[in-house]
Amino acid sequence: MNSLTLRRAGRTAALTLLTSFAFGSVAQATGEVNIYSYRQPYLIAPLLKSFTEKTGIKTNIIYAKKGLIERIATEGKNSPADVLLTVDIGRLSGAVKKGISQHVSSAILDKNIPAAYRDSKGNWYGLTRRARVVYASRARVAQNAITYEELADPKWKGKICIRSGQHAYNVALIASMIAHNGEAKTQKWLEGMKANLGQKPAGNDRAQVKGVYSGTCDIAIGNTYYMAKMQTNEKKPVQKEWAKSVKMLFPNSEARGAHINISGIVLAKHAPHKDNGIKLMEFLSSDVAQKIYAEANHEYPVKGGIAWSKLVKSWGTFKADTIALDKIAELRKKASELVDKVRFNDGPSS
Ligand code: FE
Repeated sequence: MNSLTLRRAGRTAALTLLTSFAFGSVAQATGEVNIYSYRQPYLIAPLLKSFTEKTGIKTNIIYAKKGLIERIATEGKNSPADVLLTVDIGRLSGAVKKGISQHVSSAILDKNIPAAYRDSKGNWYGLTRRARVVYASRARVAQNAITYEELADPKWKGKICIRSGQHAYNVALIASMIAHNGEAKTQKWLEGMKANLGQKPAGNDRAQVKGVYSGTCDIAIGNTYYMAKMQTNEKKPVQKEWAKSVKMLFPNSEARGAHINISGIVLAKHAPHKDNGIKLMEFLSSDVAQKIYAEANHEYPVKGGIAWSKLVKSWGTFKADTIALDKIAELRKKASELVDKVRFNDGPSS
């Protein structure tokens, strides 16, 4: 597979390609690696630059917001993709379900990435961690600790803002509730939380924090790195105000810890440059790359002993739920069914 094929594929696919560049025509087949990425250029470009400097391996990349897993499946044996970079355990396990991944066995990956954050069969590997936390109003919420279970307590009636229950971030959180508390209790919990909603679930994580800022809710549910995105948003400084209006509470800190999701990588089933794909995976789990991830996107490194960014440190340390994410992946379907069953997205019942 040459890079021209990748370029042609990039032009003809019915996808919103954000950008596709650097597809040289003379590179040796052994000296390159083809990447399909859901993750954005500002984050991935510096990582790839560092990878090429270190290994001499040239990188070709296609960025897209959706459709990459389906695209690799459609391309089949002719797919130029070596690896897929994405966020969320749902997408990683979805890639495996779709049959587009292959298993990797690497002592380096096993050493760098804790077992909870990689597939036990080697089909996907986590590269960064994010916690799903509670953003509580500084003005209206006195308590400085909370549990997910508590979100169903009637004392929060009309006070919770959260995005769609079917969004992958929430499906994973609900799957973790099933893993820890069982299905029946989780259904009750979801019903309780639904009754506490301040508005119909809609918008993204940051929109929920805006809901707290504007007084619609007292608490919002969101991923940790959005705090950094708001705190450093020079283009939309109003988001700094949203951030100032809330404190970040890491749920369940006294017991199992906060729910963790990941971004990660899979090796494509028909990777034409398999060895280079694995080299890239190993590089992304290395100290150098983990530091870049930590600084550029304010996520938590998966590898132990890597410093967090200054901003992330300012939110304090916390206890992370260490349940294996392949367990979460298994329970996603059930979680999604529960969301429908309790009609979570209909919002607070009248
Ligand atoms: Fe996100």
